[in-house]
Amino acid sequence: MIVMKFGGTSVGEPEAIRRVAEIIRSRLSKTPCVVVSAVAKTTDELVSLSDAAAKASRDRANDLIEWILERHIKLIADLDLDGDTVLSQTLSQAAEDLTELRQRFEEAGKVEPMLMDLCLSTGEFLSSHILVSYLNSQGIEAVWADAREAIVTDSRFGSARPLFPESRRLANRLFEPILEEGKVPVMQGFVGADVRGRTTTFGRGGSDYSATFLGALLGASTVEIWTDVVGVLTADPSLVPEAKRIRRMTFEEASELAYFGARVLHPSTLRPAIERGIPVFVLNSMKPGVEGTEITPSLGEDACGEATVKSIAYKEGLTVLNITSTRMLMAYGFLSSIFRIFNQFETPVDLVATSEVSVSVTVDIREKIDQIVSALSEISEVEVQHGKAIVCCVGEDICRKAGMPAQMFGELEGIRITLISQGASRINISFVINESDLSEVVNRLHRKFFSEHIG
Ligand code: ASP
Ligand code: MG
Repeated sequence: MIVMKFGGTSVGEPEAIRRVAEIIRSRLSKTPCVVVSAVAKTTDELVSLSDAAAKASRDRANDLIEWILERHIKLIADLDLDGDTVLSQTLSQAAEDLTELRQRFEEAGKVEPMLMDLCLSTGEFLSSHILVSYLNSQGIEAVWADAREAIVTDSRFGSARPLFPESRRLANRLFEPILEEGKVPVMQGFVGADVRGRTTTFGRGGSDYSATFLGALLGASTVEIWTDVVGVLTADPSLVPEAKRIRRMTFEEASELAYFGARVLHPSTLRPAIERGIPVFVLNSMKPGVEGTEITPSLGEDACGEATVKSIAYKEGLTVLNITSTRMLMAYGFLSSIFRIFNQFETPVDLVATSEVSVSVTVDIREKIDQIVSALSEISEVEVQHGKAIVCCVGEDICRKAGMPAQMFGELEGIRITLISQGASRINISFVINESDLSEVVNRLHRKFFSEHIG
């Protein structure tokens, strides 16, 4: 049994939905359970609807309701599903629900999280009904599965967390009979219900989490995340046009890259699958023939064996603060007094390097820098350097491999490097450069580590 999740762009256009049906057909022998996001942009519009309604902007709210429904009606018509009575009922129910919610928001006078979750879940309810109807029209027997009957969560509306044992019982009870009949269950991503049966959502982008969680509940052999990218790449293609897809990577590597804003699944999204050792594939629904990226708990014995750089990530727009103690040499408590200031201004630091009397850190929040510098100046001398970037090479075990830093830095002749960090994580070597050198540096390293793949 496998779980297949399709994101908003994969169900955003009639063409995309047709492709999704063929992708599901190609997996029928693997017994798929399907999880689906709302049609692209719908959740954004439902957020705007909640805002408008809470501010009593009735005309704007009504326009949004109409616009959301129209788009689904058009999709249904384009897929020749207008005759489907379940779909017309679903649409009129959605119209009724959204209008009622508009009134309730108006009465509340604020974006009440519980109402917001009811409102946002409408997107996934609509998309899942449309997909079920289309699959059936194409001879793929599909059954609509209500996420609220399978995924039990806590009551944190807007950022609910699912409860495993409770959900496992329900999910198996709901899905088993459907699968036994050889049919394809289609469940809404992003949505669950608390123990009192109230609709909850997992936070934006939460459908991926639904998919890995469902995979864990049902003991899936694989979770496939179908999206609009070909998988995880060796570098940002806007800097390195010849960047290549990474075939396999570990959970840790994916987490590290996610931190640097690479287009990869969020680490917490992967956790349910990783905890149960279920491999997750990131695949492109526009190019179903391409293998995608496999994210596994570990690369195992059979993997390449040798530690290598998997991907080169970066973060720009950073500021480096060089902080030098004005107190006595080796006075203790210097580090803690500095970090207390960052803490006070709720500003995370990315890289840190220390010497006897000074500390250098990078921060990426510009707004509070002046306040932070003035607070730091009371206990130290501070030098501020804007326009910096971190470059980060990620790969299992690269820090344990002899000669790896030499290989990396050997490529960087003539480049000014401000800070270096290696060893804090086993899989990441990072350093800070001037932003103006970023493209040059990432391309040089990419050539060094990936040229044989590029050929
Ligand atoms: N539809 C929700 C969102 O746009 C959940 C998801 O797509 O994963 O955030
Ligand atoms: Mg998404």
